[in-house]
Amino acid sequence: MNPLLTGIPPSLIRELNAKKRPTSIDLGLGEPVLRPDPAPFRAATAWVEAHGCPYSPNNGFDELRAAIAAHYRLPGLDQPENVCVTVGSQEALYLALKALVDPARHEVLLATPAFPLYAKLCQMEGLRCKQVEFSAESGFRPRADAILAAVNPHTRLIILASPANPTGRVWPEAELRLLGDGLRSTFAPIYILSDEVYHELYYTEAPPSSPATFYGRTLVASSLSKSCALTGLRLGYLLAPTEVAAPVFKAHQFVVSCAGTFDQRVALEIFRDPARLSAHRPIYQQRRGLLLSALARAGLEHVAPEGGFYCMVRLSGEWAEDSMGTVLTLLERKDVLAIPGAAFGAEGWLRISWAGGPADVETGLSRIAELMTERR
Ligand code: PLP
Repeated sequence: MNPLLTGIPPSLIRELNAKKRPTSIDLGLGEPVLRPDPAPFRAATAWVEAHGCPYSPNNGFDELRAAIAAHYRLPGLDQPENVCVTVGSQEALYLALKALVDPARHEVLLATPAFPLYAKLCQMEGLRCKQVEFSAESGFRPRADAILAAVNPHTRLIILASPANPTGRVWPEAELRLLGDGLRSTFAPIYILSDEVYHELYYTEAPPSSPATFYGRTLVASSLSKSCALTGLRLGYLLAPTEVAAPVFKAHQFVVSCAGTFDQRVALEIFRDPARLSAHRPIYQQRRGLLLSALARAGLEHVAPEGGFYCMVRLSGEWAEDSMGTVLTLLERKDVLAIPGAAFGAEGWLRISWAGGPADVETGLSRIAELMTERR
């Protein structure tokens, strides 16, 4: 067996999910429960009836690549040739690592708390990675100076997410500017990999900015999974600067050949009317209001999410010492599933997903608060 793979523990989030009972209140997985718009599926079915379901061009249908580039309109990433249509943003993240990072020479910087996948992909590829922690005391506010202080001659790629999973924080534009300015004066070319899978689900006044606006060496990974409640469609995309596109395309071609033809036809229909990408935002905005009221009623310390559909809840007293143990006890005593902060590099916290129904969120939070008053 490949030791790079056998050395990676299985996904904690999936393992915890498997322990859930039918009665459990599920604040675990980040799975939107809203129903997707069926119209793009009808259009894709009609297309398949007329054309069959052949392979698409390797990097995706030209029309779709053009529509994605035109929708995001990011400097240096706005041509169809900058777009690779992928199998979820997960493949997009993998391609960026594969294309850019030399295991013999380079190091990857991870802004933490972070989605555990980034570190797992690095492990799988034998890449060294270094965590840069944003402080819990500042509510995990993203900071350019923390990243820049960790940059060294081996740094090749910095992975950040905005809005972030698990913290729900959005990178302030001023911090992105500082980061871009700082990176322009480093030893060797450093790239940013910006995970923007929650881009459309924001609760700040303006939409989240992309580091691509301030720094040319940026790749953007995203997908339809979260914005359109299409996690199972597996339709993502990587926007890559011209000098990185060729190796990205090569890796993509060898790994999957192309993303699914049917999935791409669905996506094309969505991008023809891009308002569909943000159709669910008002619903999440309303649920976020309910979440914040429920948190206040339960008296739980938390970081108010600026985007996405997760919320970091602070554990109190002895419960904060071992978030994994707390999650197991929470499931056993209160029948509530949450994810331990330790899974993301944030010990002492729980990540709850509020993508599900507001009634479950209310009940789940009051049971978490109840547990905090009990002995371990
Ligand atoms: N990035 C983040 C931050 C996520 O939370 C997820 C899924 O939960 C992904 C990427 C992967 O999503 P997908 O491959 O469905 O686009």
